[in-house]
Amino acid sequence: MNEPSPPVRLLIHGAAGRMGQALLRLAGERDDVDVVAAVTRSKPAQRVIDGVPHFSATELEAVPEFDVAIDFSLPQGLDPLLALCVSRGRALVSGTTGLEPEQRAALDAAAGNIPVLWASNFSLGVAILNELVARAAAALPGWDCDIVESHHVHKKDAPSGTALTLGEHARTGGAQPRYAALRAGDIIGEHTVQFTGLGERVELIHRATSRDIFARGALHAAARLRGRPPGHYRVTDLLS
Ligand code: NAD
Repeated sequence: MNEPSPPVRLLIHGAAGRMGQALLRLAGERDDVDVVAAVTRSKPAQRVIDGVPHFSATELEAVPEFDVAIDFSLPQGLDPLLALCVSRGRALVSGTTGLEPEQRAALDAAAGNIPVLWASNFSLGVAILNELVARAAAALPGWDCDIVESHHVHKKDAPSGTALTLGEHARTGGAQPRYAALRAGDIIGEHTVQFTGLGERVELIHRATSRDIFARGALHAAARLRGRPPGHYRVTDLLS
């Protein structure tokens, strides 16, 4: 009988944030992953929390061996982590949004050497919504296409990365999307893609009621990325 694979060793980057905390909590409930390092922007108050070694972003070179880094930080945090993954030949899963075009290009270049999965949204529902939007756009030529997104007041980028990805899918179907962003209270994330014709309207809506869906999606993808050849991966490539 085959020996079970050892757990995938994870580095969690942006560990003190809303997503970082969800990732640490949910990783602790799984047998197939083991968090070997948590990285926070500033010096951690404690070196080891719940058995997980913590490092500051300035100590990245000192983190132990890992298989996959999961990044949910801010754009300025990504470059050093990407460099670390490339230098160690390790996979990167990133959900950080608001990236500059040069950062997307750097991810593309890195995918020549390591497995890279960057996604503006790690939920299954949004993966399906992207496909529905492309189909609706193709089936409704000439209709107005508006993407309205709502998030909590702390969100830095607008329109959201998810809205922009939905817009890319709308464009593949021939639509020319416009965007509107609302920042209010503690909304985790809502996206409406509205197609408006003469006398009728189609609305496709996704509402996230827990950020655990994104953390679960990222952990699921990371657990399946170890040992894959270099390249760009999508959430849907790693669903099974
Ligand atoms: P947050 O502000 O709660 O957390 C971000 C964390 O990153 C903070 O703890 C901050 O200290 C840390 N950080 C900032 N600069 C850093 C650096 N240079 N090095 C290391 N760490 C640094 O934000 P959040 O709600 O957890 O979201 C984080 C990111 O993930 C945002 O870009 C958000 O848009 C994105 N997001 C993506 C998805 C998805 O499914 N792709 C879902 C939710 C959020």
